[in-house]
Amino acid sequence: MFNKKTIDDINVKGKRVLVRCDFNVPMKEGKISDDTRIVASLPTLKKLIADGGRLILCSHMGKPKGEPLPELSLAPVAKRLSELLGKEVVFAKNDNVVGDNVTAAVNNMKDGDVVLLENTRYRAEETKNGENFSKELADLADIFVNDAFGSAHRAHSSTVGVASFVDTVVSGYLMKKEIDFLGNAVEDPKRPFVAVLGGSKVSSKISVIDYLLEKVDALIIGGGMAYTFVKARGGKVGKSLLEDEYLDYSKKMFDKAKEKGVKLLIPVDTVVAKEFSNDVPNHVVKIDEIPDDEMGLDIGPETVKLYIEALKDAKTILWNGPMGVFEMSNYAKGTQELAKAMADMDAITIIGGGDSAAAVKQFGLEDKMTHISTGGGASLEFLEGTELPGLAALDNK
Ligand code: AMP
Repeated sequence: MFNKKTIDDINVKGKRVLVRCDFNVPMKEGKISDDTRIVASLPTLKKLIADGGRLILCSHMGKPKGEPLPELSLAPVAKRLSELLGKEVVFAKNDNVVGDNVTAAVNNMKDGDVVLLENTRYRAEETKNGENFSKELADLADIFVNDAFGSAHRAHSSTVGVASFVDTVVSGYLMKKEIDFLGNAVEDPKRPFVAVLGGSKVSSKISVIDYLLEKVDALIIGGGMAYTFVKARGGKVGKSLLEDEYLDYSKKMFDKAKEKGVKLLIPVDTVVAKEFSNDVPNHVVKIDEIPDDEMGLDIGPETVKLYIEALKDAKTILWNGPMGVFEMSNYAKGTQELAKAMADMDAITIIGGGDSAAAVKQFGLEDKMTHISTGGGASLEFLEGTELPGLAALDNK
């Protein structure tokens, strides 16, 4: 089903290979606090090194917005990557990303050498898909490999623009793996196929809900977005997160689910508190009886039971978005219980990136899931059924 060329389809020996990686790792006090994304790039990089390519790596990190912010330099990534690869990674530092020292470093490379460029978002043109920057990147290379799944939903210079100035444009292993898991889940799932959607807002997931209702056998809704569905059913939601302008949409989704024969589950109880805080008393109420001065911050114990029951026989589970405010210990239970149950299930479990991935890691369950996506936004856009621009730019098989 993955109909794009990959690094297995090309010969890189002696060639200059520009690899767009996703090194957008979280930093804390100048240190990388989670190197998952760097580790995830290794299969592609090792293969290209073993095949004698001359690797020029690039990535963005954070949002420097065209300014060379030192705290968002990729220097720490070069160091960590070098440790992980067990070989030197030359950091071609240049606030302009490209330039004479970069060209010189590239010209000095021998087969299997690795050079890392500075944060592509130091250049304002990057996020505008600026042609000059795209060409400058393309001039460094004979081949372009895009392995940055986490940025595949963005048409930027280093993901899309550059591709039109290089003859050979292929996917790395990570990009392929991500698309294979997500694509197989939605296009050819082992059934029953159950999706679990949570997180804060209905508005950020409207297309996903719509699209998944075409594909799944059951759709489970939790998190802040659930309360709009609860109100659409006539429940009282107090001070809970609510998007009034999506009440009609929520009603339509109930109708659509009925029409398609899909079970659309919303919570039956919820943990409420008077404030958005871990330091105030909380208690459990029925979902449609939330007092006016309280807000729902997690799914309740009856909902946990109901959802685990609904997941029990699933053969494919796709999860995106936490069930409650999992960052606060008092409201993490719903997300944790569901994660624990999924971890023990005999099903293909696919965790969308972002907060659900963070939650699964927080609970130490990452090794028990089939696939944890490295791209939150990208996996969500993929699940809206739209083609990702970074993927569209790759050569077809
Ligand atoms: P999103 O970025 O839309 O996936 O939302 C993730 C965020 O939703 C997390 O930071 C959660 O704390 C938050 N969240 C989950 N449940 C609730 C809730 N009941 N009320 C407010 N925020 C929530």
